[in-house]
Amino acid sequence: MNADLERLIQLQKLDEEILRKTRLLESLPSEIKHLNVEVETARNGLKAFDAQVEADKKAKRDLEREVEVAKDQIAKDKGKLTAVKTNVEYRAILKELENFDKKIRALEDRELEIMEKLEGAQNARKAVEENAKEAEKRAKVVVAEKESAIGELKKRMDVLLADRASLVSGISGSIISSYEKTLKARDGVGVTRIKDMICSGCNQMVPPQLYYQIKSSDEIYKCPHCSRYLYFQPEEAESRVE
Ligand SMILES: [Zn+2]
Repeated sequence: MNADLERLIQLQKLDEEILRKTRLLESLPSEIKHLNVEVETARNGLKAFDAQVEADKKAKRDLEREVEVAKDQIAKDKGKLTAVKTNVEYRAILKELENFDKKIRALEDRELEIMEKLEGAQNARKAVEENAKEAEKRAKVVVAEKESAIGELKKRMDVLLADRASLVSGISGSIISSYEKTLKARDGVGVTRIKDMICSGCNQMVPPQLYYQIKSSDEIYKCPHCSRYLYFQPEEAESRVE
């Protein structure tokens, strides 16, 4: 086989791994960011929960104060009753007392609702807090894993890029530049196998004469359709490799 072609085949393998690892290195940081956002969301959920409980407690205190004020008014009105001189005045005060009673009952109903809500919140808070803690614990483990994966990937990439550079230095300049151009333009594949006259890169048939040249000569040829370099690999070699 042509020496450049042999090196291109090795280079293609390296480039596939480089491409896969580059994609991982691009996606991992955003995955880590996403996990951190999830933790932040869980923490904010707990904060919002606590803020709601505080708001409910304040509403309950306000209602209690309103009840106290209404009770004071009732006491004052009752005091007035003893000094009343006319029936009209008497009835007016009784009407007022009745209204205060109604108001107190309404306030106490609302107070009760809030108290029930607060009781429920006490149990619910435990679950919300545990969820937040659990999310944080899980994220911590996964983030650490992903960070260590990034470290490993970077180390492996250094090795791959060094191997690539030394391989590239042994390939003719015009061939490597053509390969790299095709690699970029054609989904990361710059050299591919020809099988039964079909290019494995674009699945199109090459002219029979070209096919026999690829099979038998020591020259290097490109697919006329996709410009990928082509190599022939006999069937038994294939099963031996795989
Ligand atoms: Zn092709």
